[in-house]
Amino acid sequence: MKDLIVIGAGTAGLTAALYAARAGKSVLIFEKEGIGGQIATTPIVENYPGIQSISGIEFADGLYEQVLALGVELEVDEVLKIEPQKDHHKVISSTKEYVSKAVIIATGSKPRLLGLSREQELTGRGVSYCALCDGLFFKKKSVVVVGGGNTAITEAIYLSTYAEKVTVIHRRDVFTADLNLMKQAQEKSNIFWKHNTVIKELIGAPSLSALTLENTKTQESENFSVDGLFVAIGQIPQTEYFKDLVPIDSEGFFEIGEDCQTLIPGLFVAGDCRKKAMRQLTTAVADGANASKAVY
Ligand SMILES: Cc1cc2nc3c(=O)[nH]c(=O)nc-3n(C[C@H](O)[C@H](O)[C@H](O)COP(=O)(O)OP(=O)(O)OC[C@H]3O[C@@H](n4cnc5c(N)ncnc54)[C@H](O)[C@@H]3O)c2cc1C
Repeated sequence: MKDLIVIGAGTAGLTAALYAARAGKSVLIFEKEGIGGQIATTPIVENYPGIQSISGIEFADGLYEQVLALGVELEVDEVLKIEPQKDHHKVISSTKEYVSKAVIIATGSKPRLLGLSREQELTGRGVSYCALCDGLFFKKKSVVVVGGGNTAITEAIYLSTYAEKVTVIHRRDVFTADLNLMKQAQEKSNIFWKHNTVIKELIGAPSLSALTLENTKTQESENFSVDGLFVAIGQIPQTEYFKDLVPIDSEGFFEIGEDCQTLIPGLFVAGDCRKKAMRQLTTAVADGANASKAVY
């Protein structure tokens, strides 16, 4: 019997473990893939308060070592099910069953990829999934945003303050973003639009330098020079296994407030898997701390 089981060793889960362990609680974390979650996949982080510049791996390692030093245990295993009981919860992984007085689901999300060959190789080398994280690296450069929803248009507006030229590429002729956002974007003189267009190929080594584009109506293709590509075609929340216990919104994110508490006593959610306006390290650590306080 643990005091707390945390599902997911990303920034939110590790922060929750940190606070709980410092409050004297016994904590076990489950991680199915890699310690550190999403941030471990990025070469550089420059927007975490108090740290001027750090690699994602270094950030994740530092947080992991901090919780290990406090006696937090880790199981590398995927949690498949939580069975709420009267005064504790059963946590069922792919190999074992555990019991805990409280459980925090901090399973995060993943950016939806375009699915192009070389996409992973060029991530952090011109291909990005977060304008807020990487926009500043493209000051006075030419960037493309791919997507047609609110996220894509918000990213385009944000990038237009740094980049010389922002081109929004969308596979349809109509954007699904709110009209108000569209109006703001259309008023920017350095945002350009390409409708009915898809990206067929990423070109450049060691960094992205161009895209092969195809018009979906005419099938004409063109080579388009760019310094950066921002992929904003959505997120895939890792909530599938737990959606019967915690309500989710239309995109699959847990519909739980900032206090991180679910309607089931002893069950909490934290981090990017939660419905929220901004998915960043700062908001993940805030959730981890809030969830842990609620557990306590
Ligand atoms: C490429 C990239 C660059 C970024 N750069 C920045 C940046 O510069 N600055 C910034 O502030 N933010 C950045 N972000 C966003 C930031 O990484 C996220 O907001 C943050 O990592 C969210 O933390 P989290 O713990 O909620 O989720 P995650 O980091 O997604 O961690 C969740 C963890 O849970 C694990 N998991 C999921 N399901 C299960 C299960 N069933 N059983 C066991 N384990 C499970 C996953 O494997 C994962 O490790 C970036 C994101 C990406 C993708």
